[in-house]
Amino acid sequence: MTQALLVVNAGSSSIKFKLYSVNGDDLDLVMGGALDGIGSQPRLKVKDHAGTILVEHDYAVAEISTTEQAQTAIADWLTPHIKDYVIIGIGHRVVHGGSVYSRPVLVDDQVMATLETFIPLAPLHQLGNLDPIRVLRQRRPDLPQVACFDTAFHFGHPELSDRFALPRSLYDEGVRRYGFHGLSYEYVHAALRDIAPDTAHGRVIIAHLGSGASVCCLHEGKSIETTMGFTALDGLPMGTRSGTLDPGVVLHLIEQKGMKPAEVGTMLYKQSGLLGLSGISNDVRALLASDRPEAKMAIDFFCLRVAQAMASLSVTIYGLDGLVFTAGIGENAPEVRARVIEHLRWSGLALDPAANEAPAPSHQRQGNKGRRIDGKESRVPIFVIPTDEERMIGLHTLRLLRQLKHHS
Ligand code: ADP
Repeated sequence: MTQALLVVNAGSSSIKFKLYSVNGDDLDLVMGGALDGIGSQPRLKVKDHAGTILVEHDYAVAEISTTEQAQTAIADWLTPHIKDYVIIGIGHRVVHGGSVYSRPVLVDDQVMATLETFIPLAPLHQLGNLDPIRVLRQRRPDLPQVACFDTAFHFGHPELSDRFALPRSLYDEGVRRYGFHGLSYEYVHAALRDIAPDTAHGRVIIAHLGSGASVCCLHEGKSIETTMGFTALDGLPMGTRSGTLDPGVVLHLIEQKGMKPAEVGTMLYKQSGLLGLSGISNDVRALLASDRPEAKMAIDFFCLRVAQAMASLSVTIYGLDGLVFTAGIGENAPEVRARVIEHLRWSGLALDPAANEAPAPSHQRQGNKGRRIDGKESRVPIFVIPTDEERMIGLHTLRLLRQLKHHS
C-alpha cells in the first residue's frame, strides 16, 4: 500500500486539508479540500489532484458550528476514501510558535500545553489551529502529528527587526515582532532557488499578497525583516485587516468613542483593509471589476503600501537582487503588480507587460515553479512564484518523521 501524509491547515472559519502520497523525498497530491463556512454556511468540497470534484456537501449550521465538529466531519468523510493508503503522519499549520519553536515539532502532551500558552498571542488563529490536532490525536493516537509554524521562518531574525520601541520589560514578556506567512516564504524561496539560484542567495524581497498580506526581505535565504509583527494585523492593509495604524487611533476608539476592546478587535480584523477602505468588497477581483472611485482608491492605497514596504525593506538589506510576487493577489492580479512596480520605477524596476499579463498557469499543477515578468531594462529580476503552504507543511512533516525514525 502507498504511504501518504495528511496536511491540515485550519483557520477560525475553515479547515483546508490535502492528502499527499509519498514519492521518495517528494510528495504527490492525491486530493485536497476544505470545509469552510464553519458556524455560518458549512460546506465540504474536495477535489482530486486533477481538479475533479469528489464531494460537495452542505451541512446545517447546527451540525458544524465549531472547528472540532468540522475536523470530525472531515475525518468521517476521509476514512473510507483513504483506505488504499497507509497514513504515516499528519502535518498541521500552527500560526504561533512563540519564542520557543524555530522548526517543526512532533506534538505530544507537553508540546500541546506549550502551544496553548501562545493562544493569547494569536487568539483568532491559534485556537482554530489546535482544535484539529486535539481531535485527530484522540481519533488516531497511533499517528505522529507535526506542528509547523508560521513564525518559525523568522525565528532568529535580527534584534532590530524583533523589537518595538516600547519599554524593555514588554519585550521580555514576549511582545515582539514575530512575523508570519513563514511557511509561504520558505516554500517560495526554495522554488526561487530552483529557478534562479544566484538571485535566491542574494537580497530578495517576497510579497505574499493574499487575503492576509505581508512582505519579507531575505538575505542568503534567511528572513531579515517582515511587515507583520506581534500579530497578523501589522504591516500592509489586507482584505479585511487594517495593517499598520497610528496606535493613537486605537486609544481614540476606546477612550473617546467608548468602543470595547473586542469591538475594536472586530473592526481591525474584520471590517477594515480593502473592505473598510472601499465599502464594497475585500476581494481584489471585485474591486478591479468595479468602476466606483472608492474601489479604485482602495486598490491604489494597497499598491502604494506594498511598494512602500518593498522600498523600506530593501533599505534593511542594503539593496535588492530579486523580487517575487506570490499568493492569491500576487499570483493572479497583473494590474496590482503593474501598479506596485510603477511606484518603484525610479529605482530601476520594470515589468515586461506581456509577461506580466500572461495568464497564471494552473495553481495546482505540480512542477509550476514560477516565471519571470521583468522587462529587459529592469535592474533586478522580478518573478511570480505560486506558493503552496500545505506542500511545505507536508515536506516538513515527512522530513521530521524520517529524522525521528533514523534516530530511534
Ligand atoms: P488565503 O489563502 O489567505 O485565503 P489567497 O492567497 O487565496 O488567500 O488570496 C485570496 C485573495 O486573492 C482573494 O481575496 C482575492 O482578493 C485575490 N485573488 C484571487 N484571484 C484573483 C484574481 N484572479 N485577480 C485578482 N485577485 C485575485
